[in-house]
Amino acid sequence: MAMSNLDSPTVLIVGAGPAGLFAACELLRHGVKPRIVERRAAPHQEARGTVLQPAVLEHLERAGLIEPFLRSGVRIKRLQLLGPGLREILSDDFTEAGGAYPFQCSLPQWRTETILREHLQRLGLEIEFGTEVKSIEDRLDGLRVTLEAGARSETVTMAYVLGAGGGHSVTRHSMQEHLGGETYDGRYWVADAKVSLLCPSECARLVVGPAGFVLLAPLPDDRRLIFVNRDETDTRPELPSAAELGALLDARAGVEVGLSDLGWVSPFRMHKRVVERLSDRRRFLLGDAAHLSSPLGGEGLNAALMDAADIAWKLSLVMRGAAKPSLLDSYAIERGLADRHVLEVSDEVHATVMGLVATYADGRVPDVPAGDPAENAAARRKRLMLDVSYAGARSSAKPAPPPESPRPANAFRSATNCAAPITI
Ligand SMILES: Cc1cc2nc3c(=O)[nH]c(=O)nc-3n(C[C@H](O)[C@H](O)[C@H](O)COP(=O)(O)OP(=O)(O)OC[C@H]3O[C@@H](n4cnc5c(N)ncnc54)[C@H](O)[C@@H]3O)c2cc1C
Repeated sequence: MAMSNLDSPTVLIVGAGPAGLFAACELLRHGVKPRIVERRAAPHQEARGTVLQPAVLEHLERAGLIEPFLRSGVRIKRLQLLGPGLREILSDDFTEAGGAYPFQCSLPQWRTETILREHLQRLGLEIEFGTEVKSIEDRLDGLRVTLEAGARSETVTMAYVLGAGGGHSVTRHSMQEHLGGETYDGRYWVADAKVSLLCPSECARLVVGPAGFVLLAPLPDDRRLIFVNRDETDTRPELPSAAELGALLDARAGVEVGLSDLGWVSPFRMHKRVVERLSDRRRFLLGDAAHLSSPLGGEGLNAALMDAADIAWKLSLVMRGAAKPSLLDSYAIERGLADRHVLEVSDEVHATVMGLVATYADGRVPDVPAGDPAENAAARRKRLMLDVSYAGARSSAKPAPPPESPRPANAFRSATNCAAPITI
């Protein structure tokens, strides 16, 4: 396929996190060469968002990227929800979801970004590290973008900007959009470490009790992504020592978790926020720039990758003259619906976990009924983001078939108030 804009790209991607990197991969696959800038001087080495959901694995397969992800990640085939003393409340078997990838693929976010960067390098696209977008102005002749790289300043005019700059997005600010919604109560630590507590293989464990919860999710090299709530009185800015974090995990789990080899720990707050408008036809917001959801849903990073895949095929068809510019309107409509669904489902999971904690804190034992098998299956598909269909979408009726038809969303077995699949 002939590559558009080889000499002078007219699409600028702001940010080389997962959303920006995957958007670049997908644009190149569809024949458009973008420019991608990243304000960090070099890649980070943080675990952050680790779980890739089955629906996203299907996207990665279409992108020709599934092999390195499956090689680098570990498979999570089951989630165990446990009470104090590791008493099982429920166990959810992902393999029953069916599909091409009936499991979550888990790997640190730095590794996900490395795979995407290596792919871009093979395709000959340079990521401009140490380059920050300072401002974006909407002019009659295009988007006037000011960039800074050290002492050097540059102004360029772009036809399109993909705003993938994360929570503090210059693109979003330039559109005068804000991330409306709420920040959940509580403060959390997210960490990457080893634990001596034996866990069933290919199984993530979420332990809840009267003082909070701890999530232990498998990572490669026998490590765990750890997510735990801090004590309410703990608002200090310093990071915890390994001994302090280990003691917190033991207290939350009610057994000795045995933390060791702490590689990374970061404070974290959880949000439920989304913009009103994902695009104005020239600027498109992707990933955390557009929405923030509770990581207990495990969907934020996945929604970012889905946003990227969606805008890439639409923009490439328009830029190659194979579709009318009005196709771009469907990005905000379709991804807007899907991203709101992500927020709802993550919120259900969040509320379920916090509800269990509150029940234990009241001295009661939660009653989680076995549930109806069909409802359980629907809730599982939500959790694995397999419940969004684009069958009714205006964009799926265009003359040339889209290179992919994505699907998102997620919650616990007991969270069934939104179990109906969403059709966009
Ligand atoms: C500490 C931490 C812990 C997390 N833990 C979890 C977790 O446990 N589970 C989970 O699901 N999710 C977690 N997340 C969220 C997850 O990392 C995000 O959902 C995901 O990274 C979204 O990808 P993104 O590409 O949209 O944004 P980001 O990953 O934030 O990438 C944005 C990139 O844009 C760059 N950038 C920003 N502004 C500019 C500019 N003006 N010019 C150039 N470059 C710019 C930034 O430097 C950054 O590299 C965590 C995030 C953080 C920060």
